[in-house]
Amino acid sequence: MLKILFSAHRDRWSEYEQPLNAAFAAVGLAADLALDHSPDEVDYIVFAPNGPVSDFRPYSKTKAVMGLWAGVETIVNNDTLTQPLCRLVDESLTDGMVEWVTGHTLRHHLGMDTHIKGQDGVWRDDSFPPLATNRPVTILGIGALGAACGQALARLGFPVTGWSRTAKSVPDMRCLHGEEGLIEALTAAEIVILLLPQTPETTGILNEKTFSLLAEGAFIINPGRGPLIDDSALLAALDRGQVAHATLDVFRTEPLPPDHPFWSHPKVTVTPHIASTTRPETAAKVIAENILRGERGEPFKYLVDRARGY
Ligand code: NDP
Repeated sequence: MLKILFSAHRDRWSEYEQPLNAAFAAVGLAADLALDHSPDEVDYIVFAPNGPVSDFRPYSKTKAVMGLWAGVETIVNNDTLTQPLCRLVDESLTDGMVEWVTGHTLRHHLGMDTHIKGQDGVWRDDSFPPLATNRPVTILGIGALGAACGQALARLGFPVTGWSRTAKSVPDMRCLHGEEGLIEALTAAEIVILLLPQTPETTGILNEKTFSLLAEGAFIINPGRGPLIDDSALLAALDRGQVAHATLDVFRTEPLPPDHPFWSHPKVTVTPHIASTTRPETAAKVIAENILRGERGEPFKYLVDRARGY
């Protein structure tokens, strides 16, 4: 019987207990899932950074830590964690992100605000939006989420450029990588979507220099992580019109402080880190199947490279 510790926010236990037990049973694993186990007896930890465990040293027998989140920046530098760490790649998390990114992209592409916010009795029939085929979109980060978003936008007709650290090939989009690739990816981009992890290399990737590469009046959509953007450079780019609007779901400080200029800036949309979320039914299956892999001696999926930071 595997001892599995659930170490996430206590409120999530009631949502996860049944789906996780069902998923373990479905893959044929005998599992004792609990909020408390003696640390030296725990085989696997189902983990979120807002749960009770932050010192992994007492978990001497633990074979892996199974994250419930896609982003790992708050745990990746934890020196007490010597066990393998898997992050979450989950179809519901991906689907949610694709819907959020597509919706916010279409809002800006179609100029919806003009009509929604500007409904004033004046019949303006000269504001046709361009077709998607004439609106270049760039996605920084084409992993599980970025690639899915890029492909969804490509299906709508947008010419999509994706950018990653290593050379990649994703159907229906132009793929670039590395430092030179970044300049090419951002030059003349009209909509830029950030789906990079937060690492020392990606912090501040949108800054004064990179904003200046974009098409005049570009749109920024950031569901990745707040530190990817230099906030002062964004405010300056908004004020000079280089960036027409920024839709931000993630911030350097969360919750975003009430006096932060983003809240009241007319060209900034703030959403409270809700672009997507982990859904227990699908996440439980991913975790059970990954633990089964471990028990069979197969390599874990979605292993975090601690040195790389994601
Ligand atoms: P992945 O690890 O699958 O993909 C990350 C992508 O970023 C890869 O394409 C990777 O390149 C690229 N990348 C990483 N470092 C660099 C670099 N230095 N230069 C260029 N490219 C780089 O992550 P996911 O797609 O699953 O998730 C992405 C992020 O989305 C998460 O880290 C998290 O921060 C955020 N997120 C936000 C949510 C929200 O609700 N707002 C919900 C879930 C996630 P390569 O392919 O070469 O490795």
